[in-house]
Amino acid sequence: MIIQKTSREIMLMREAGRITGNALKVAGRAIQPGMSTKELDLVIRRYIEGEGAKPSFLGLYGFKGSACISINHQVIHGIPSKDVIIHNGDIVSVDVGAYIGGYHGDSAYTFACGEITPEAQRLLDTTRESLYMGIKQAVKGNRTGDIGHAVQKYVEARGYSVVREYTGHGVGASVHEDPGVPNYGTPHRGIRLEEGMVIAIEPMINEGRPGVRQLSDGWTVVTTDGKLSAHFEHTVAITADGPVILTMPDPD
Ligand code: MG
Ligand code: MG
Repeated sequence: MIIQKTSREIMLMREAGRITGNALKVAGRAIQPGMSTKELDLVIRRYIEGEGAKPSFLGLYGFKGSACISINHQVIHGIPSKDVIIHNGDIVSVDVGAYIGGYHGDSAYTFACGEITPEAQRLLDTTRESLYMGIKQAVKGNRTGDIGHAVQKYVEARGYSVVREYTGHGVGASVHEDPGVPNYGTPHRGIRLEEGMVIAIEPMINEGRPGVRQLSDGWTVVTTDGKLSAHFEHTVAITADGPVILTMPDPD
C-alpha cells in the first residue's frame, strides 16, 4: 500500500531528512585511514541521538549498527565492526536513516578515504550523477520505470551495471514502504507517481557485472566478481513544484 503524505507530514519529514543528511556529512568528515567501521558507526549514532532522533536502522530487522557501512566490493548492508578497518584508497558506502517526529529519512553516500584511483573516482562520480538523473524523473505523472530507466541508461552508457536485487522504496512512518523503486526499467512503466509520495531513490552501481551475493553473516551484500560498487541515496518528496530532496544536509 502506498501512503501519500500531506504537506504537513512532508514538513515533518524534512526534519528527519535534515538530520539524516547531516549524519552523512558528519560521517564523511570523520572517515580516516585506520578507523574501524564500528568507530565510524558510533560517530554517526552520537550525532543522531544528540539531535534527539533515533538511528532508523538500529535494531531494524535485527541489524546491530546505526548505519550500514560497506567497503569497496561490498554493495550494501555492511555491519559495523571493530575488526573492519578503513584503509587509504578505500571507497566507503555509508547508508543511514534518522527517525524523529514520527518519520524517517534515508540517505546514502559513498566516500573516498584518502587517495583513491581515478577508476574508483569515476565510479563514484557516475553513481552520484545517476541518482540526480533519477531524481529529475520523480515528478507527478511519471512512473517508477522513468526513474529506473534514467539511472540505468546513464550508468550503462559509461560501462557500469545496475544491481537488480535491491531497490529504492517509499519512506514515511516506516523506513521501507511501497512502492519499490528499481534502478532499471522501461519508460512509462511501473507505478504512477502522485503528489505526496515520498520515495528513496538509491542507485547501487557496480564497476563490473551486476551480480551480487550475500555473505554468511546474513547481511553484507558483495559483488560476485569482487569489483567495486557504489551507492548514493536521497529521500525525495513528489510535490506540485516537482521533486524535493528531503535529505540535504544543512549548508556549511
Ligand atoms: Mg538507505
Ligand atoms: Mg533506502
